[in-house]
Amino acid sequence: MSNSNSIRDILEQIHALQTQLNDLNGNLRRTPLVLKAQEANIQKQLANLAQINETYQKLRAEAKQKELEVAANDQALEKRRNQLQESKSNKEFQALQLQIKADEAARSVLMDEALEVIERADRYAQNVPAAETELKKVRELYETTKKKFLEDKPEIEAKITIFKQQLETEEAKLPRDFREIYNRLVHNVGGSEALAVVENQKYCGGCNRQIPINSLAQILQKKPITCSSCARLLYLPQDFVFDKG
Ligand SMILES: [Zn+2]
Repeated sequence: MSNSNSIRDILEQIHALQTQLNDLNGNLRRTPLVLKAQEANIQKQLANLAQINETYQKLRAEAKQKELEVAANDQALEKRRNQLQESKSNKEFQALQLQIKADEAARSVLMDEALEVIERADRYAQNVPAAETELKKVRELYETTKKKFLEDKPEIEAKITIFKQQLETEEAKLPRDFREIYNRLVHNVGGSEALAVVENQKYCGGCNRQIPINSLAQILQKKPITCSSCARLLYLPQDFVFDKG
């Protein structure tokens, strides 16, 4: 940390510290929200997988049911064919023959239905690994984010502590007239929005508004000047060259 004493240097230092603190605090605030969103996504994917599994099991049960119906039909058919061989009368024989024809027709329909349901279940089965992969992906993302945050957090907090101390030291160096304006801005708009550097010799680094030449002259005379558009307290860059235009 430079032992800066010109107002320009102090303001520049404060601005850098405020910006860094804003980034670090933002990270600390934002990551838990990101984790929450990722957790919600995991729940969503879990529900999706459960739904897909349920539908798949239903289709499988339906296919099984159809297979049972075909088997029952086959048994009935077998039984009637035996009865046919042992039939005592012509009338009975004819009746059984009709019954067998009907059973065979029914079997054909049942077989078609069974095959259709089995095919449908097989096709639908592809959805299960796809949903499992998606769930795995969102879980991994959550774990990676969480791990990185837990690793980074102590370092971020340590940096914040150091930067805060440095900030206090720099703030204490501000002359009273600067400090009053600065404190008010920090209170009202937050530290990172309190200051702006003059860019390209004449533009506010906060809002890009052109700064009047009078104001630039006053800044050079170490007067606290704020941007008329965004109210940030202005300071000049190290390499500033006053151009009277
Ligand atoms: Zn501005």
